[in-house]
Amino acid sequence: MKRNIKDLSFKEFMAHLTQRREPAYRAQQVWQWLFQKRASGFAEMTNLPALFRARLDEEFTMNRLAVLRRLESLDGTVKFLFALADGATIESVLIPETKRLTLCISTQAGCGFGCAFCATAVLGLKRNLTSGEIVDQVLEASRTLAPDARITNVVLMGMGEPLANYTQTLKALDIMTDTIWGIGISPRRITLSTVGLVPQIRRLMEETTVNLAISLHAPTDELRARLMPVNRKYSLVELMDCCRALPIPRRKRITFEYVLLSGVNDSLQCAHELCELLRGIRSKVNVIPFNPHPGSSFQRPPDESIEAFQQVLHQRGVQVNLRRPRGDDIAAACGQLQGEEQGNRRARPMMAAEA
Ligand code: SAH
Repeated sequence: MKRNIKDLSFKEFMAHLTQRREPAYRAQQVWQWLFQKRASGFAEMTNLPALFRARLDEEFTMNRLAVLRRLESLDGTVKFLFALADGATIESVLIPETKRLTLCISTQAGCGFGCAFCATAVLGLKRNLTSGEIVDQVLEASRTLAPDARITNVVLMGMGEPLANYTQTLKALDIMTDTIWGIGISPRRITLSTVGLVPQIRRLMEETTVNLAISLHAPTDELRARLMPVNRKYSLVELMDCCRALPIPRRKRITFEYVLLSGVNDSLQCAHELCELLRGIRSKVNVIPFNPHPGSSFQRPPDESIEAFQQVLHQRGVQVNLRRPRGDDIAAACGQLQGEEQGNRRARPMMAAEA
């Protein structure tokens, strides 16, 4: 079967060219067409010899993601539902802010980690995405923007667990960050979020300089294991020891995400325990009030509890940010991505002509 050319790493394509006795500089030309000029067919690559293009066309496909749906939130957040070549579906979310435009991308269709509060968990793991499918979310979302707009930040916080799809995710990061033949987004503007896979976290921090976010959600093993089954494999002690030993540059911090679930992990005692847990780690905490989704029995705490929880962290010198829900009217907020079913009455689908 023909491979999708975008699933090859730059190195793999170089090796392919060597095998075909093509000059190595063609790799850069083709990659610039794919990831900078965003060509959608080999015929567009007009500075390449026609024979070479024809050969590429025989050997590779150039798949694109199909936009099945594009929903725009009242707050400007846009959620894309994409179909992959085999019909699996994923979602990506574009989040406009004053000075940046962030795209939240998926690394797996569904997710196998079973976090109790997450909508994606309900799907189970369908499959890993290929590097081409991960990068294509950036390319396709970019196509819908005004000519002068561009995606400035990427967060790997959509569907799936990026570190459980390590090889493809790293290949995708390589393409996203390369400034010569790739998309050219600085690794400082990319954040990867994980459930806390210890060996892969170590590897990631050795191999890249992207920002790290860890889904913590509870300050004790007993509670965390109830919310996040992965805690039975990597306990909090292991996870925190790993974080303390990471080679994080001086001016950077590890982000810890903490979803606030009413009556479950939002007590002041939890807040104090969280501060203890984070001692000795250059960290900041992103407090995410629970985003409800159909079928979930958890609840978002009242504003006073959210405020009181943050206050404890603040008073004890822990840097804390409140993650306001973005796009929750179109089920695009953290933990609401479900790939298909959720309809919505308030937001209206965009017509192609408006896009
Ligand atoms: N698998 C990775 C990437 C997902 S990131 C990870 O778990 O980190 C999405 C973030 O949203 C995670 O911190 C996740 O725990 C959180 N989340 C999941 N469901 C949520 C919900 N219903 N409300 C708020 N946050 C949620």
